[in-house]
Amino acid sequence: MAIIPDETPTTKLLISSLLLTTFIAISSTAAFAFLFFSSAAVNHHHHHDRPPNRTAARETQSSSRDPNLLRWVPIRGSWICPENYCAHYNGSVPFEDRVDTVLNYFDLPIDEMPVFMMLYFEDPNHQGHMVGPDHPRITKSVKNIDRMIGRLIDGLEKRSVFQDVTIIMVGDHGMVGTCDKKYIYLDDLGSWIEIPEEWVQSVGPVLSIRPPSDRSVSEVVAKMNEGLRSGKVKNGDKLRVYRKEDLPERLHYSGSERIPPIIGLVEEGFKIELKDLGNPECAGAHGYDNAFFSMRTIFIGHGPRFARGRKVPTFENVEIYNLITSILGINGAPNNGSSSFAKTMLLPHNHH
Ligand SMILES: [Zn+2]
Repeated sequence: MAIIPDETPTTKLLISSLLLTTFIAISSTAAFAFLFFSSAAVNHHHHHDRPPNRTAARETQSSSRDPNLLRWVPIRGSWICPENYCAHYNGSVPFEDRVDTVLNYFDLPIDEMPVFMMLYFEDPNHQGHMVGPDHPRITKSVKNIDRMIGRLIDGLEKRSVFQDVTIIMVGDHGMVGTCDKKYIYLDDLGSWIEIPEEWVQSVGPVLSIRPPSDRSVSEVVAKMNEGLRSGKVKNGDKLRVYRKEDLPERLHYSGSERIPPIIGLVEEGFKIELKDLGNPECAGAHGYDNAFFSMRTIFIGHGPRFARGRKVPTFENVEIYNLITSILGINGAPNNGSSSFAKTMLLPHNHH
């Protein structure tokens, strides 16, 4: 195990970070495995992952689709994975079986052994959404994931390949506790502007609104902010609404037609709902500004190209793609990572 973020969090924060999705990628000299542990659950609210046109009301329904899994498939073009190697995601497969599937690849003849393997756990994100990041159930869930990593390492050691295998373990986001006292209800803006449910594409930590084309986006934004700053809307000062072009540049959240024209950002731990339905809730959420420490996650690298015990400064997850292509020695697709990142992270080839 070699690399963890520079700022060592307290135990509690570390657990919060682990709330993220866990993702493990594995590679040996011949093979590479990627462990992906998600704090992102399968059956919960992923407002920011919602495809366009779903209404906010439907958000509470569970979905068997795993948004993190989709997010972590950055492959474009014509890569075809043989059926027996690339199973479709199935959240009911026990974690032990997922680990064993990866381990079994190492028993294949060398020319059939995949060079890149991925393992995904949707915990402790799943529990985090239900009970928040500070609940004892999270500790239990993290412990279980730790047991899965132990199972993987034991299996690799038993096959005498652990030292030759590259393992990257990452989460995809943090988690922060939310409570109904920290809600902002769009309904409360009624004196300034009615926001029909049909306009609202997502609520939660990220508000996104697509008004009909005959309505002025600037006017809707101005009216909403006027109401929010009036002092008469509960927690109104915790939400700020933008035309997407006016969002802070560092968020990179305007360059797609799929991003609705109006985006609202809330303070950490606050949530937006259409109206107060009187459902008190204390739970957990992610999707807040990535400048919040609570939205950060873990990165651990192990293997021949990672210096043992080295800590590196905080970096963005978009860098990981180029790290992996560097280790694999392949040309990646164009992406948002920087080309120099891998050099700063990896030992030269043939180091050992
Ligand atoms: Zn999630």
